[in-house]
Amino acid sequence: MTVAIKPPVPSSSEAEIDPGADRRRPMPRRRGWRPATEIAVDLGTANTLVLVKGEGVVLNEPSVAAVDQSTGNIMGIGLEAKRMLGRTPDGILAVRPMKDGVIANFDVAEKMLRHFLRLVIDRSIFKVKPTVIVCVPSGITEVERRAVRDSAGVKRLLMVAEPMAAAIGVGLPVETPVGSMVIDIGGGTTNIAVIALGGIVCDASIRTGGDELDQAIVQFMRKNYSLLIGEPTAERIKIRLGSAVPLEPEEEMDVKGRDLVSGLPKTVRVDSSGVRDAIQEPVSRILNAVRRALEMTPPELASDILEHGIVLTGGGSLIRGLDQLLMDETGLPVRVDDDPLTSVVRGTGRILDDFARYGNVLTT
Ligand code: ADP
Ligand code: MG
Repeated sequence: MTVAIKPPVPSSSEAEIDPGADRRRPMPRRRGWRPATEIAVDLGTANTLVLVKGEGVVLNEPSVAAVDQSTGNIMGIGLEAKRMLGRTPDGILAVRPMKDGVIANFDVAEKMLRHFLRLVIDRSIFKVKPTVIVCVPSGITEVERRAVRDSAGVKRLLMVAEPMAAAIGVGLPVETPVGSMVIDIGGGTTNIAVIALGGIVCDASIRTGGDELDQAIVQFMRKNYSLLIGEPTAERIKIRLGSAVPLEPEEEMDVKGRDLVSGLPKTVRVDSSGVRDAIQEPVSRILNAVRRALEMTPPELASDILEHGIVLTGGGSLIRGLDQLLMDETGLPVRVDDDPLTSVVRGTGRILDDFARYGNVLTT
């Protein structure tokens, strides 16, 4: 993942920093809900994105923290920590606190969120406390909500269910009576939701996402090539060769790892059809979840979906041919969002832009 933290803007006046500042200046004492700094956060299982209103996405880092097991100290967060995955010396553990779409490790999640927010908020010279909207899994418990509220450490924190943010981000007409289906395939989870009239009508989540494809590839390499590889290598194979339907032509790549028999480093050549077989099981779990969700969908909305189709988003939707496979299996039109890795945070950004239209999807 790329890190896109803009450098702090050295400046003497507010107007230079925020293009919206002068718009606000004529009515500084307006008793409104619109504060000076507005921030959207997508705390994903694989990646955390932060968007600042008027600026766009300013931070995009892996949701990983490196933790010293003996002291509990955090040694690194984000990209720095992801680079340590599978390479950590004894005693340092790379933790993914959001792993299964729930907050698996409160303490680390809290530190991570605070760290990312500080990176964004500290560089702004605004004295005003920012408003932050955080996307949360739709099945979040009250305890988890409290953890998010506490960890953000900001005065005004609102939450939006992730599928709703995703649907807004991909441009679905969520506030109309027309039913829309959005499938968000993240790192740890796949979330399928039907949305109408500003609410989530049905929502199914499974703990299968891109990570599970990586694990399937690790197993495949071990079984078929006696080659031991780490998850980062498996992810690279998935991104390069992964597909849900036959490719024309099939592709190949060299993969380095450790030979299980000799214990020595070795290189093997892997092709895309093998990788497709390897990931077939988790892919069909996703397919089955979509089928179940369609069965749960009220008939009126199902007919909307038949007409308007399904939108796929999340990094996992970038597996080549997944849309095709879903189309073949469900008979419904399917499209992949243009920028599936950012749709949730962009959706949240739209809520910031248009509270009047989307404000009712927020919770505290
Ligand atoms: P989350 O919202 O859970 O943080 P993301 O939407 O950021 O997850 O997606 C991360 C997942 O997408 C990871 O499993 C990653 O390997 C996968 N991914 C990213 N790019 C691609 C790609 N080009 N092809 C296949 N999978 C991808
Ligand atoms: Mg996500």
